Order: sequence, then structure tokens, then C-alpha cells
Amino acid sequence: MNTNDMDFLKWRMEEASPEDLALLDRVADFGEFFEDMCFAPGTKPYELTKCQAKDDDGEWFDTSMSLPDELEYFSYTWFRYKVEKQEGLSGSFNHLTSVLTVEPDANDSTILHEMIHLHEFLINDQPMYLHDMLYWALYRDLKDKIPKLDEIITGHAHLLTESSLFNQGGLHDILFLLKSFDLDIRMGYPLGTVFGYGRIDDFKGYDYVK
Ligand SMILES: [Zn+2]
Repeated sequence: MNTNDMDFLKWRMEEASPEDLALLDRVADFGEFFEDMCFAPGTKPYELTKCQAKDDDGEWFDTSMSLPDELEYFSYTWFRYKVEKQEGLSGSFNHLTSVLTVEPDANDSTILHEMIHLHEFLINDQPMYLHDMLYWALYRDLKDKIPKLDEIITGHAHLLTESSLFNQGGLHDILFLLKSFDLDIRMGYPLGTVFGYGRIDDFKGYDYVK
């Protein structure tokens, strides 16, 4: 057992409330929706890591390039989870303390929103090309599902939109937008539900096919 595991166990046994633990369970349940953000086998971003190598007999075989440990061995036990009312916020992810917080009775879309922040924090701590690869894989996948995706991205990418969102609640870049759409589709929500910030109204009339 490493130090990380010990800390997590201590948190579980001594600090976490039953509500905090229930939140952790919910986060873990949703984990499979975020496997793409760790480039896990079977996901679209993983396709961009595939390659071939030669074995000892000189025969080529299919394999994949190795990834940073933070992605390869990702675990939700590296973070803490808190159910707590916060002034003016339904949820937050604090990358300095590694704590994901949601308000009591938070709905799933709030939890999923904060989970994107958690995973994007991990990605943004890695070489920038990993962010780029994830962005491209998500875009290509969603382009077939959301006919007017480019129109939505163009609106989101405007300085007014991105800076105003940044000032309200931190970075919600195009990668964040794309992942939130991926989750909306997986959950059967209208586009903009996971994103929040009232954007569900902006995306009315933009349909998707599953
Ligand atoms: Zn946010």
C-alpha cells in the first residue's frame, strides 16, 4: 500500500461523512464515461496511441504507445469528495486541494460537470499534445452526432463567451464543451445540461443523434 492509498483510507475512515462517501460512489459509477479522458483501450482517443512493434523474433505485433502514469494508472482515490453548500456554487473542483465538492442533493449533471474539471486538470498537467489528441478524438466523434457542432463551437470560441465563462467559474474551454456534450448524449440530456451556466437555452434547437 503506498502513501496515497494510506491517505485515502484515512480520509474514508476518519474524515468523510456518509454523504461524502455516497458522492465518491456516484463518481466511481460514472468513471466509465471518462475512460476516454485517460486514453483507455476501446475508446476513441486510444486509437491515436496505437502502433506496431517488433517482438524478439522480429515479428510485428499490434500494441500502443505508453502514456504518462497519471493517465495509465488513474484512480479517483487521488482526490477527495465533499458534499457541502458553497456560496453561489452548485459544485466546484479545487485543483490546489484536489477536492471535488457538490451541494447537498446535487443532481448527476453537476457531478458530471465537476468530473470534467477533475479530468481536464489531469490532462492539462500533461504535455499539451495529449489535450490536443483528446480534443480531436472527441470532435471527430461528436461531429457525426451533432450536425451543427461547428456553429456551436464558433459561438463558444468567441472571446466574449470564453472570457465571460472564465470570469464566472474558471476555464470552460472547447474541450470542456465537447466532453459535456458527450456526457449529455450518454445521459440522454438536452445539449447544455452538463455544461450548465444557462447554456441549455443557447443550445435549444441543436439536436443530436445517438
Ligand atoms: Zn465548471
